[in-house]
Amino acid sequence: MAKTPGVAAPAPDAAVRRRAGRPRLTSEDWSARLADYCRRYDVSVRDGALPAFPSGRRETAQHREWMSLYKAHRRLSGRGPDAAERAQRQERLTAQRGRCPLCRQPLDLEEARLDDWKPDPAVLHARCLDFVLLARALGPEALERTRTRI
Ligand SMILES: [Zn+2]
Repeated sequence: MAKTPGVAAPAPDAAVRRRAGRPRLTSEDWSARLADYCRRYDVSVRDGALPAFPSGRRETAQHREWMSLYKAHRRLSGRGPDAAERAQRQERLTAQRGRCPLCRQPLDLEEARLDDWKPDPAVLHARCLDFVLLARALGPEALERTRTRI
């Protein structure tokens, strides 16, 4: 059951962040924040992905919270991988013949970021992954509108 948008309470970690700087974000924190957002705004997502951009809701609490989720998602995806993740990235990188599927430029393991998107997971440059995540959130229409600006 979703509460009315616009009356959302501040994020539970807001007080902690003011006292002691930004705490290290864990994937558990991310899952909890994502679940909270989805419950309050009655949205659903696939496999921990970023929820759809709340278009038409600029300057609302939901828009601010979506931006906060987006930044948290970026922080997590830009972080150094553990051993299992490195192995997974290496496997993808080899399957992609050492190239980023978006810009098609060479990609090495250190700069490879995993996009665990079903049905086509891949590793990309951080900036290319940012582009994909934003495009996915904004939708194909936004990509069409972008064409007039490049
Ligand atoms: Zn790239």
